[in-house]
Amino acid sequence: MFSLSRLLTPSLIVRAVTDCSAVFLQERGITAVVSDLDNTLLPYHGADDAVSPEVLGWLADLHGVGIGVCLASNTTRLGRLARLAASWGISHVPRTAGKPGTAGIRHALDLLGAEPQNAAMVGDQLFTDMVGGNQLGMFTVLVNPLSTHEFVGTRLVSRPLERLVLRGARARPQ
Ligand SMILES: [Mg+2]
Repeated sequence: MFSLSRLLTPSLIVRAVTDCSAVFLQERGITAVVSDLDNTLLPYHGADDAVSPEVLGWLADLHGVGIGVCLASNTTRLGRLARLAASWGISHVPRTAGKPGTAGIRHALDLLGAEPQNAAMVGDQLFTDMVGGNQLGMFTVLVNPLSTHEFVGTRLVSRPLERLVLRGARARPQ
């Protein structure tokens, strides 16, 4: 059993995915990354071309050192999810991932051929991305959300609770 505090504690808190370099992950023995999509890699409901050159460079760096990446998103817009994953040359779980449930993340690990102890879970939400990854014993990386636009339940319920739990531990915005 996991303690609640362990489930709610990211392994690492950074400003953005690009602060968590491919070399850093490689040195930690990470061979695979399961990533959230919205507000982690691009702004929530951002256009397909809203991804920044920096994030594309980060994905290329991971590819360069042989770290596979798979999207596991709670989005219901599965066509957009598939299109973005294909355009970035990464894999994706072709259904709503259901985080913090672990089935979607496990599916991603299967697609990557990775074990949880050698994989990182990257996301902007404590109660979905971090709790999901921590249940599996993954290296969990919490990033600041890329935009303040988000699902109304996230904005009104999850974020205030996150602030309580994290007590200011979020990375400072640049
Ligand atoms: Mg997100």
